[in-house]
Amino acid sequence: MWYDNWCPQGPLSNFITKRVLYDARLDVGTKVVSMINDGKWMWPEGWEDNFDILKEISVPILQLDKKDKVVWVNRNMQQVEFSTTQAWQDLRCNWPTVEWKDVVWFKQLVPRHAFMLWLALQEKLMTQDRIARWKQISMQCSLCRNGIESHKHLFFKCKFTEEIWNRLSSLRWNMKDHTDLQDIVQEIKVSRGRNNFGVVVNKLILAAAIYYIWQERNHRIFQDKERNEEAISNIIKESVRIQLISIRVRKTKNVIKISDQWKLKWENFSPVDS
Ligand SMILES: [Zn+2]
Repeated sequence: MWYDNWCPQGPLSNFITKRVLYDARLDVGTKVVSMINDGKWMWPEGWEDNFDILKEISVPILQLDKKDKVVWVNRNMQQVEFSTTQAWQDLRCNWPTVEWKDVVWFKQLVPRHAFMLWLALQEKLMTQDRIARWKQISMQCSLCRNGIESHKHLFFKCKFTEEIWNRLSSLRWNMKDHTDLQDIVQEIKVSRGRNNFGVVVNKLILAAAIYYIWQERNHRIFQDKERNEEAISNIIKESVRIQLISIRVRKTKNVIKISDQWKLKWENFSPVDS
């Protein structure tokens, strides 16, 4: 009771000294009894006169037959049961939810794909146009060699990338063509809940495409290696296909249609390699 933070004014030890507490113990024998007889608990004699702050604190009603338990004061100053979830909710900063949350973070996605997509969505990949702000370099796109390499160019405006998206488009589930990442995020967000397997396919394709396009760009710049559009598209397809095999879904008309597109057959509630 002395050191705990049980009232909004803070622990009593912050404003009542040890000496005062020591002196008050002399009263306890008689005082406590009279308090119980009156049916009301009070501060020891003289305390309210000496410590104004005590007038704001109602003396807690002690129920001798009840066990002590830990309570938590939440951010609205209400006493609630303590749980780690509750503590986390009260201590964390409440940033606004970003639109791309469910597009980037979901359990079927390969973490390294998710990480690249996360950077790309925030335009934080070290594209040539960003490097050029502090270092003189050729800003040319290494994929088409015809344009300045920016996030927008590299992932959508580039002829090389466009060809990859074209090759993937028939495998996407009910999705129109897009000109930038934010557009795709919007569409995936809206389509959520209509067909989960289809949406997962779209999200896996998006993340794998961003990952392998960026990887190809790095191979060309740092390793002097090149693959063509067909090769990259096939790598993306294969990567998504492998991930689809690990997903368990209910066999619905749409799920069967999607599985056929990916040439997967059914076994024990999951599409498997045919
Ligand atoms: Zn290009």
